[in-house]
Amino acid sequence: MSLTTVLLKPGEADRLVAGHPWLYSNSILRLTGPVADGDWVQVKDHRQRLLGTGFYNAKSRIAVRILDADRVEDDRAFLRARVQSAVDLRRRWMPGATSYRVVNSESDFLSGLIVDRYEDVLVVQISSLGMDRRKADIVAVLQELLQPRSILERSDMASRRFEGLPESEGLLAGEPVGAVPITLNGLRFQADLAGGHKTGLYLDQQVNYAAVGELARGAGEVLDCFSFLGGFALHCARAGARQVLGLDQSATAVTAAGEHARANGLAERARFEAANVFDWLKAATAVGPHERVIPRYDLIILDPPSFTRNRASVPDALRGYKEIHLRAMKLLRPGGMLATFCCSHHVGRDLFEEVILAAAYDTRQVFRRVASYTQSPDHPVIPAIAETEYLKGFAYERVR
Ligand code: SAH
Repeated sequence: MSLTTVLLKPGEADRLVAGHPWLYSNSILRLTGPVADGDWVQVKDHRQRLLGTGFYNAKSRIAVRILDADRVEDDRAFLRARVQSAVDLRRRWMPGATSYRVVNSESDFLSGLIVDRYEDVLVVQISSLGMDRRKADIVAVLQELLQPRSILERSDMASRRFEGLPESEGLLAGEPVGAVPITLNGLRFQADLAGGHKTGLYLDQQVNYAAVGELARGAGEVLDCFSFLGGFALHCARAGARQVLGLDQSATAVTAAGEHARANGLAERARFEAANVFDWLKAATAVGPHERVIPRYDLIILDPPSFTRNRASVPDALRGYKEIHLRAMKLLRPGGMLATFCCSHHVGRDLFEEVILAAAYDTRQVFRRVASYTQSPDHPVIPAIAETEYLKGFAYERVR
């Protein structure tokens, strides 16, 4: 049976040729035949050159998600090969990791599918109708390749409605699971897979936890802002920092982080406080007329949530980033380190550093950059697909 062809308008092929998988509905000239949502289609430019095949969905503004250069005969074999190559990539770049993102959607050429591994439990997140239709194949492939104890679905993103899909959560295979003990770089955490952020916790910082932990070797006081489950804080405490304080506005996160500190024998060195970081920093840097702020921290970590939802919110976000940097800098000892992250796709690396420099200017401080960070390799960056790169970070040493 021949596939229905989606023909593009002239001038609409470039992004796809470069490797981006999204074909927007307004780029389509016409379809050569009938097609049901979720079916494979082939995409051709206006000169009839084949650009690839993918899943069609008339309900979505992303009408086709390209998945392969050629025609795919067997869905399950296709999914198996893609998931296997994603698994191989993690084994190569994160050989010691036992919890990591196995499949990261566009980054692994499986637009619409995310799979996280928490030791022997898998969490699946499906954001496209085409993938949703193949859920049974996805589960079968994951069981075959990874033999998990359980597979959970956490497709509870509101964005599913843009694909005409309701939110969907539940057990796809194995026995029910709640909190799963996991190990990151040799430290123990609990991932609350039923109710946690994203699909449990933030796996994209795994490599950076270890790198920032190294900065804390021999440090006195460390401040971890937006500490969530204590990832950065506990790596710093283990590296030997004398006293680590983690701040997060979520009381649940603070309680969990405290438990993680105890589970790792680090409760003496790491404590967590429920606080709004903006308010806390403001109070810590507030001074009377003839007083000065005492810079007491050897290392300050800033890893806030994304302050942007879209392009329009960028100016507000930049004000927020500048404010926390400015106040954190005032608390940083000369010779101290600042490790700072931005997970907003709309604020690029250069713009982020501009904000940091503006804060440094206002405090009259000068910094040496000692490291640049990106997302862990289980969240691969495909430069042709700009959306795949979102996490950026720097470490600086305060030289003046
Ligand atoms: N550093 C963490 C991830 C931080 S995610 C890690 O590596 O896992 C952002 C965290 O910031 C969330 O836990 C959220 O509860 C917290 N948060 C958001 N806004 C905040 C604010 N204004 N003050 C304090 N915490 C905040």
